[in-house]
Amino acid sequence: MRPLHTVYLIGLLLSTLSFAREQAALPAIDWKYLQKSKPWERTEEWRVIPQVTFNRAEVPSDAFILFGGYKLDQWQQAQFPLAANMEQARVIAEGLDVHYKGAPAPWVVKVDRFEMKPGAGPIATKQAFGSVQLHMEWKVPIQPEKTGQNYGNSGIFFMGLYEIQILNSHKNTTYANGQAASLYKQKAPDVNASTAPGTWQIYDIVFTAPVFDENRNIMTPAYVTLIHNGVLVQNHVPLKGPTLYMDESQYIFHPPKLPIVLQDHGEPIQFRNIWLRELN
Ligand code: MG
Repeated sequence: MRPLHTVYLIGLLLSTLSFAREQAALPAIDWKYLQKSKPWERTEEWRVIPQVTFNRAEVPSDAFILFGGYKLDQWQQAQFPLAANMEQARVIAEGLDVHYKGAPAPWVVKVDRFEMKPGAGPIATKQAFGSVQLHMEWKVPIQPEKTGQNYGNSGIFFMGLYEIQILNSHKNTTYANGQAASLYKQKAPDVNASTAPGTWQIYDIVFTAPVFDENRNIMTPAYVTLIHNGVLVQNHVPLKGPTLYMDESQYIFHPPKLPIVLQDHGEPIQFRNIWLRELN
């Protein structure tokens, strides 16, 4: 060993010993005795508890904020209910007015979140959107008496027609293509990334709008990529057409941009921190 290394090692050993001596020199504390007087409580500040503030992911600087807290001013009452079959989907696709001005969104704002008002109907964005990257956080209330499709059901409908399912899918079995993060009635998620009811869950979605040719025939389908709680569960999956409850789906021509809709399925699902980036 070279002399320089030897000197270095001796120095390191001495500094370690000296550190150990300092540790041992601290006065001992009789923790058992102090349990009676609890002197640490004298320095605890309980009079004013800091207000709970938002716990959310950073929002990109070019994002359009659909809900950042306090107000639902980017949303309104939807102009149509959601389609259950092809006949209804056709009426909606052909009748949606992108300049529609509806009543204020009737759901309930609670500071950093808003809550679906059961029975009030779906709400829609005031603006129309085509292809987007969208971030949203949602929470299902704890309701042990509920099961299947009735436990925490909502959904986000891109262009008012194409649903990504919201549901409690933590220890709650239902048909696979109807569980959380499914492209409802079209494709189940690759894995179940759900957390328990009462916890916030995150969807990061890339929705690519369908493209129609000059004859109003479908040229390229809509695609969905979905990351659920940080896990990729839908990877650029083509949709068959609008989401339908009781029909096989096929594409119907519609404008290139339409409002995004949130579903009222009769339960007080909560939402917060919703933003999107429009894609070309
Ligand atoms: Mg739903």
